[in-house]
Amino acid sequence: MNLGLLETTLHSTEAVVEFCQERKLIPTSVACPKCQTQCEFKKRDQVKDGFAWRCRNTRSRKWISLRHRTFFMASMLTIKVILKLIYLWAFELATEKNVRRECGISSSHTITDWKNFLRDVCLDYLRRHPRQIGGPGHTVEIDESVFNRCKHNVGGLWVFGSYDPAEKEGFLVTVPNRNAETLLPIIKKYILPGTTVVSTVGEPITE
Ligand SMILES: [Zn+2]
Repeated sequence: MNLGLLETTLHSTEAVVEFCQERKLIPTSVACPKCQTQCEFKKRDQVKDGFAWRCRNTRSRKWISLRHRTFFMASMLTIKVILKLIYLWAFELATEKNVRRECGISSSHTITDWKNFLRDVCLDYLRRHPRQIGGPGHTVEIDESVFNRCKHNVGGLWVFGSYDPAEKEGFLVTVPNRNAETLLPIIKKYILPGTTVVSTVGEPITE
């Protein structure tokens, strides 16, 4: 995938919806939030998504946004623009200049909000799916910058994490505090034996 191919893939509103449905970003069926009747997927020119859900209940016939209960829900941007922004962000190309040029988003505030949102979605995924990293011959980073980068103090919980730059894999877990008694069992659980663990300054702290 590159930006040109993404642009070609997202050539129409139909194609955008299909792309999102294949990736489970938009559901393939929706029940009416009011009467629970299954909705039909219909073309709707007056909305910028080009499609919407419509309740089949003849007494209701309520229209429901395609974005209902999706990642795109709160945004004023088109889904295509959001997908392009995600592409740039995922490949570390989402500088303000690039986002302005490729996505036509002029508000720095919107760009920052989206970048924070995307980061939070990934942090949340990693928190919910922690995996073991490292192993013999691997060096993983575990340092203050992990905390500083995340700046996540969620309801009194801290986010603690480690990253293997060679494998581009990491884990994040929430912890009640950052004491050694709390962190050491987590290090044992998620960092495989034989791993070299380094701190910010690159000094091995354990092996
Ligand atoms: Zn209904």
